[in-house]
Amino acid sequence: MTLEELDKKYVLQTYARDYTNFVKGVGATLYDEDGNNYIDFASGIAVNSVGHGNERLTSAICEQAKKIIHVSNLQVIEPQAKLAERMVTLSGYDMGVFFANSGAEANEGAIKIARKYGETQFDKKRYKVITLEHSFHGRTITTVKATGQESFHTPHFSPYPDGFGYVPSIADVYDAIDDETVAVLLELVQGEGGVQPFEKEEVQKLTAYLKEKDVLLIVDEVQTGVYRTGEFLASNLYEIEPDIITLAKGLGGGVPIGAVMTKHKDILKAGDHGSTFGGNYLSTAAGLAVLDILSEEYDSGRLHETLLYFEGKLQEMAVKYENLFEKEVGLGLMRGLRAKSAEIQGDVLKNALKERLIILKAGRNTVRFLPSLTITKAEIDEGFKRFEAAVSSL
Ligand SMILES: *Cc1c(COP(=O)(O)O)cnc(C)c1O
Repeated sequence: MTLEELDKKYVLQTYARDYTNFVKGVGATLYDEDGNNYIDFASGIAVNSVGHGNERLTSAICEQAKKIIHVSNLQVIEPQAKLAERMVTLSGYDMGVFFANSGAEANEGAIKIARKYGETQFDKKRYKVITLEHSFHGRTITTVKATGQESFHTPHFSPYPDGFGYVPSIADVYDAIDDETVAVLLELVQGEGGVQPFEKEEVQKLTAYLKEKDVLLIVDEVQTGVYRTGEFLASNLYEIEPDIITLAKGLGGGVPIGAVMTKHKDILKAGDHGSTFGGNYLSTAAGLAVLDILSEEYDSGRLHETLLYFEGKLQEMAVKYENLFEKEVGLGLMRGLRAKSAEIQGDVLKNALKERLIILKAGRNTVRFLPSLTITKAEIDEGFKRFEAAVSSL
């Protein structure tokens, strides 16, 4: 049986999968079983934040695995406590952290904190959560319902939990708030929805308003967090202080981990929430190594240089191929080119893979770029050379 046949026979076919068999990765370069190299501008969807085969990350994982991989959360876990401290320090917020295993699960935790806040802090229970159209918050039944895209609310999985409503833009949040609204949940840059950032000023204005009304602001930083936009959190870049922040993708450099950070440290009590795997030795040791590496990149100015360099290249492409692309979108190393049609978007992705360049699609006909944060200039140059080869014939 070929690998493709094996996959199709035994793995549930929930993805439109490509069958290139990668066997090794170095930095932002992947190698298939025939030794062909691919430039990786996707990082496993913003997960491989420090690149493939990163020495410091892999040795931290190996060293930890040799000692302890897991004990239950009924025991104190040293790297978990240290990672929480590190995240809180880097964020600059006075918060506490709960560890989960994925973005969706982190958002579930955030919604639970908000719901309990709404139940315990007011005379009349508040429970409604407002989210934005074009958002993406995960694949569990609750986070699918929190996702502001009609196509996700298919009757296949109904009934969904109550208490979620959607608005087209931040300007529409104000009127949507009623006396049962407990929180607003949003991404500062909508990733899956088309790499679309919100305006800093409108976010700051909303944050101030929500604070005044005692409505919680939950920022889903599952994709934007861990230096993706150039700061540790996009919330830092926007200079706001949310009530709750969720993280996942880039935090473990590929080891599954999710996290909820909140300044409402006393809402959840023992027994209110939990996770068997969440924050175990392996994932939090990985998280610590990732933050060591990336905070150094940040402090040395290299991260800033890298994102400017990437941005410059992408802008060049947007101008040169304005026949295909409407504009360049995004922030930091979370970038996109808005294609003029879904057909162009599809062709660009298909051709890119033929040129051995891995990029992603996103909503609003966007071609999405999420390179590792440690990508080199040489890899960026090579990637854009392949990108040009992919688009110049279209
Ligand atoms: C990817 C993503 C999620 C879901 O994360 P999983 O780890 O797949 O559960 C949630 N929110 C945002 C903004 C994401 O980009």
